Amino acid sequence: MILDGSRDVMHHQEGNFLANGTRQFPLYFATRPLFEQVVRRRVADLDAVTFRSRCQWTDYIVDESATTVMGVAVTAAEGHSEELGADLVVDATGRTSRTPTWLRAHDYDPPKTDEVRVDMAYSTAHIERPVNDRQMILAAPSPELSRGGSTFPVEDGGRLVTLFGLHGNHPPTDEEGLIEFAADLPVPHFERLLDTRTWLSEDIAHYPFPTSIRRRYEDLKRFPEGLLVVGDALASFNPIYGQGMSVAALEALVLHHALADGSCEDLARRFFDRTKDIIDVAWTLSVGGDFTFPQTEGPKPRGTDLTNRYISHLLRGAHDDRVLREVFVKVLMMEQPPTTLFSPRILWRVLNPKI
Ligand SMILES: Cc1cc2nc3c(=O)[nH]c(=O)nc-3n(C[C@H](O)[C@H](O)[C@H](O)COP(=O)(O)OP(=O)(O)OC[C@H]3O[C@@H](n4cnc5c(N)ncnc54)[C@H](O)[C@@H]3O)c2cc1C
Repeated sequence: MILDGSRDVMHHQEGNFLANGTRQFPLYFATRPLFEQVVRRRVADLDAVTFRSRCQWTDYIVDESATTVMGVAVTAAEGHSEELGADLVVDATGRTSRTPTWLRAHDYDPPKTDEVRVDMAYSTAHIERPVNDRQMILAAPSPELSRGGSTFPVEDGGRLVTLFGLHGNHPPTDEEGLIEFAADLPVPHFERLLDTRTWLSEDIAHYPFPTSIRRRYEDLKRFPEGLLVVGDALASFNPIYGQGMSVAALEALVLHHALADGSCEDLARRFFDRTKDIIDVAWTLSVGGDFTFPQTEGPKPRGTDLTNRYISHLLRGAHDDRVLREVFVKVLMMEQPPTTLFSPRILWRVLNPKI
């Protein structure tokens, strides 16, 4: 479904709903299986693409000096081992990527890894949705109440209701428990939806997310030729900020440009240098948000406390100021750089909230 990001999203944070935005922009909502199916179909339509389904990566194939990756060893769907040659191997195996372990085993330094502990979990219910019910509702957590929720319309007359809690305040996985959990949120919408709507599935999907992880490949002095790492394998963010797919898509663009610039020569350095700037933005925003909770553990980016105080001020202004809501959402969605939040025009509005 396509919603208008300026009017169809009720965003509750810092004690109230934010004002509507000033300009319409499309937001796409679907279940993850639908998103993945559509992306897979689009990729399958590319002439140069062949899928090998249900293959498990087991190892990289390297030259004698282990300086160049020349392909991968896999266990095929039928159970036999196979080697696939490649000019370039891209590790997109997600946050459990084994490239750091592989590097260590082949006398490379593994990347330094930043881990920020939030001890978070999601529980999601799938409920029915009348045709004209088109709103997204977001209740952000706060240091006083480390639980929140997000609910949005999806395909086939469905609505997903996701509740989450940080630092052990996890949502339960039974219907009654989930409704009770929802009753403690600062807005009544979640409890009402779960209590009054028909559930399309009895199952509640539960997903624990203990830490945000950032692997700093850009700092490595040595890295094999013919290998790159992308997506969650490079950095995996607290999903409540919804940035993982945007970052992965921007990294794909960087790869496109890095390859279009010429050969694979020095590709890893060029790629990791450029993706660092993208990850810096998402990491500063999401990990910065995580550090509003005093229990959060890990390396805190410099200036985080000051920035958080300013953003809290900005959000309270955004309860009445549509421009402040607009700028906050655009930065969160990575459409504009975080520096926009500190432009003279925005600073003025934050410090003079009556405008
Ligand atoms: C609960 C939750 C909610 C989220 N919500 C949002 C959101 O609203 N917006 C957003 O932008 N992001 C969201 N994210 C983050 C987003 O899902 C990830 O950033 C994104 O999926 C990363 O894509 P990826 O391809 O790098 O990794 P993944 O999606 O994790 O894909 C990795 C793939 O590699 C496969 N794999 C692993 N090991 C091997 C192996 N040895 N051999 C072969 N295959 C292997 C896995 O099976 C998997 O299919 C959410 C994440 C979670 C957990």
